[in-house]
Amino acid sequence: MQNKIFVRECDGYTVFRMEQITSVEDYLSGYVDVPKFEALCRSCPNYGRKWSCPPFGTDPMEIWKKYNTLRLIAHILVPKDGTTGMELLAAHEEEKNKLRLWLTAYEEAHPKSLALWAGTCDLCGRCAKIDGEPCRFPEQMRHSIEALGGDVGKTAADYFDHPIQWITENQTPAYMTLMGGLLYNGI
Ligand code: SF4
Repeated sequence: MQNKIFVRECDGYTVFRMEQITSVEDYLSGYVDVPKFEALCRSCPNYGRKWSCPPFGTDPMEIWKKYNTLRLIAHILVPKDGTTGMELLAAHEEEKNKLRLWLTAYEEAHPKSLALWAGTCDLCGRCAKIDGEPCRFPEQMRHSIEALGGDVGKTAADYFDHPIQWITENQTPAYMTLMGGLLYNGI
């Protein structure tokens, strides 16, 4: 079982961080399937409406192959007793933004690395892609693992022993997971 590092205590939930380092070669062979996840992305409302999301003009494999090491970073949100599913969903959005800031700072502290955000880019209220305009912040925007064809569900289960849990109408899950990462040349 992975060690959980305490991150913060918030109203209604606690955040823990877990990390794992793997080679990009191993990750690509066991967890990345660009055509499969590009096809799954088509049912998402962000498909074709965010510069951070598929379809891309270039092959995501070109990004993976620039690096040899992947540090996977999972933030686990554990609800307190009485926290509702809706409250946890709101916390998930807030924590997604906090993790983005943390990953951005982490990337800055590691020259020539590339952060992978947890989920789609939300830097703008309305993504410029919807209006056929270029990305407003191409230097800041980062892709997610799943946008580049990574299997986040399998990653969470295999690397962190925390399979993704979903909120159902009547049940608050035991935890929610945000999955990000950092690509770099290290091993
Ligand atoms: S920075 Fe703005 S324009 Fe670029 S992908 Fe993110 S939301 Fe879209």
